[in-house]
Amino acid sequence: MDLRCPICRSSRINYYGTSTTMGGGYKSTDAKYVCEDCRYVGALVLDVSEDIDEKARQEVEKDLEKIKLEMDEEYKRTQ
Ligand SMILES: [Zn+2]
Repeated sequence: MDLRCPICRSSRINYYGTSTTMGGGYKSTDAKYVCEDCRYVGALVLDVSEDIDEKARQEVEKDLEKIKLEMDEEYKRTQ
């Protein structure tokens, strides 16, 4: 596996398999990746060890657009 950040294409990706108990008994077991270069945090990273066909690439870019929008909104909320 050759993992890359979907935002800045950095290979400096840290993986966190989190199992965090949050308020209200809600438990998150989502795997998270953290990019050391742009601080991207999320469940999605690029695996460039396999050739991605055009259709799959478009799917990934669609997901990235969604993530960017979510990050923007998250950013605005914290201002
Ligand atoms: Zn990055």
